[in-house]
Amino acid sequence: MKIHEYQGKEILRKFGVTVPRGIPCMSVEEAVKAAEELGGPVWVVKAQIHAGGRGKGGGVKVAKSLEQVKEYAEQIMGMQLVTHQTGPEGQKVRRLLIEEGADIKKELYVSMVTDRVTQKVVLMASSEGGMDIEEVAHSNPEKIHSIAIDPSVGLTDAEADDISTKIGIPAESLAEARQNLKGLYQAYWETDSSLAEINPLILTGSGKVIALDAKFNFDANALFRQPDILAYRDLDEEDPAEVEASKFDLAYISLDGNIGCLVNGAGLAMATMDTIKLFGGEPANFLDVGGGATAEKVTEAFKIMLKNPGLKAILVNIFGGIMRCDVIAEGVITASKAVSLKVPLVVRMKGTNEDLGKKMLADSGLPIIAADTMEDAAKAVVAAAAGNA
Ligand code: GDP
Ligand code: MN
Repeated sequence: MKIHEYQGKEILRKFGVTVPRGIPCMSVEEAVKAAEELGGPVWVVKAQIHAGGRGKGGGVKVAKSLEQVKEYAEQIMGMQLVTHQTGPEGQKVRRLLIEEGADIKKELYVSMVTDRVTQKVVLMASSEGGMDIEEVAHSNPEKIHSIAIDPSVGLTDAEADDISTKIGIPAESLAEARQNLKGLYQAYWETDSSLAEINPLILTGSGKVIALDAKFNFDANALFRQPDILAYRDLDEEDPAEVEASKFDLAYISLDGNIGCLVNGAGLAMATMDTIKLFGGEPANFLDVGGGATAEKVTEAFKIMLKNPGLKAILVNIFGGIMRCDVIAEGVITASKAVSLKVPLVVRMKGTNEDLGKKMLADSGLPIIAADTMEDAAKAVVAAAAGNA
């Protein structure tokens, strides 16, 4: 799960990381009032969306007067902000963060992720922070330093000071940097983060170290024990199809292609998408209906897939283990009738009660294309999506 920058900064502040004073706002009027409350002479008007690259997309502006705060707030609020992370359609800005301006001497980069190879939290840092960090990682990887943190000890003073020195923090600012890095580690650890990134972490003219941006991702499987984090969820920022699917306990992820996939089991779902791609097709979604799929669940899954106007065909690929093929067949038939299905439907099922399931589909009178192997199924659905059914 992702959260907004201002929420990330609330977390950081709680863990002792220095962040600028700022106020989140839902309207232009609120933004001007917030700026008055913060006091000048410089403010930053920042779009709050769940995507990075806002600066380059025109979603971060430095204002030198209250009039300018109003002007920028009017420009940014409600805009369709396009960044390299939003896709070409962009993301609508519904919230702003008004902050006091900072005197930036140097922009640095720090982040934490969980490294599956070392099974440790890794702290990464660079002297080359700011809006081009991806480019730095690509062309000057030696400028990115990292340490794997021992979970039984946590981030030590020595490690913090070592990495701070490597990214150019002067001796007189090391203590402050240490507090910020240790705070970031503690925040990461205690909130079940999967990513925490401060870009830029800045060094000010007077040697202060401040987090000017905050990006957090959280492990969705840990949210049950993180009610404070879950309360930060902003459904406006999430894909409506994915939100709808989560209500029915369906693991659904929207993709760019035109072939809908309905599969039981995440591994089979991945394999199904790979097979579709192997035969030249593009999946429209990842969808795992899980082990306990009922006819109702399958119907909801169909409805969610069919909301995508670009959908050209559907492939149902089911392994009947505990889940019986006849139950799935019943679900497919009910769903196809309920949604009056207009796109070609390819069904492959294997396993328990396979013959009964196949017979039910054949007897249903629905124009279902039956396939026996993964290869047959993928070829059939790719052809159907191309209009060659
Ligand atoms: P991102 O582009 O989505 O990562 O948004 P950031 O919060 O990182 O802001 C982008 C850039 O705006 C930063 O790299 C800074 O250069 C600039 N910026 C942000 N806050 C301030 C500020 O208080 N003063 C000044 N002068 N620039 C700022
Ligand atoms: Mn940033």
